[in-house]
Amino acid sequence: MEIIKTVDLMQQASDTIRMSGESIALVPTMGFLHEGHLMLMRAAKDHCDQLVVSLFVNPTQFGPNEDFEAYPRDTQGDLKKAEDVGADVMFMPSAKEMYPPGAQTSVVVKDLPQHLCGLSRPGHFDGVTTVVAKLFHIVKPHAAVFGQKDYQQLAVISRMVMDLDMDIQIIGVPTVREADGLAMSSRNSYLKPEERISALSLKKSLDLAQRLFREGEKKAQVVKDFVKSYILEHPYTEIDYITLCDPVTLEDVNTLSDGTLMAMAVRVGKTRLIDNGRLVK
Ligand code: AMP
Repeated sequence: MEIIKTVDLMQQASDTIRMSGESIALVPTMGFLHEGHLMLMRAAKDHCDQLVVSLFVNPTQFGPNEDFEAYPRDTQGDLKKAEDVGADVMFMPSAKEMYPPGAQTSVVVKDLPQHLCGLSRPGHFDGVTTVVAKLFHIVKPHAAVFGQKDYQQLAVISRMVMDLDMDIQIIGVPTVREADGLAMSSRNSYLKPEERISALSLKKSLDLAQRLFREGEKKAQVVKDFVKSYILEHPYTEIDYITLCDPVTLEDVNTLSDGTLMAMAVRVGKTRLIDNGRLVK
């Protein structure tokens, strides 16, 4: 696996791959890789000849009081995991390389970020779309793979690609979970053992909502209230949001239907966790 740290060298490497007639898949990550990331990489390899993984903890998508400094990092471990899965290139630029002084352009998707996580993380998605657009111009992939665990991120990026006519196939991969249901996340490493037990309430509440829906409940408010009180029965939990919404527009719905998205962000102790699922009949 080749390690590339500069924009110029990455662009040259991608030009060489493209000129040889091979296709490129990109998996953007912030590192501290787990099985969720590795599933994205495997999916990427199924779609393209060459796999580029990026490892960049993007400062512009963190708010001033968020965990940018504390974000878990393990570069050596990440390099080994990516290589073992068969990545061809690891692109790991510094923040200075990505954001040289004087930059004044950003990519902003208008409406989709005004829901779910965007409400409690102002500016987060502008940071995401800007860095992903930059990565797309640097790596020049034919396809890019993202996790459905970050449902809104996948929706926002898909919208950006459509709106700006970026010639890149966006592939979404289902959420990878621990055996007990907890969605894998680099941030799970923050959880103390007793908090980790409470963290299971997120997935369990998705299952609960699914059961209520199957049993005939159609009112979003009823399901939301049920789920809220279920989660709050667990110690250390504080709800940021629980939303039942349209899976395309992310607008709240009053009446549940097949495919309605239930998405949530819950703080467990100091750790903010997200999860989501689609209701199916
Ligand atoms: P991150 O390193 O957290 O920015 O995530 C990088 C990519 O991995 C994003 O596309 C995430 O949606 C995806 N991802 C993170 N956790 C999971 C998971 N448990 N299952 C599937 N994809 C995931």
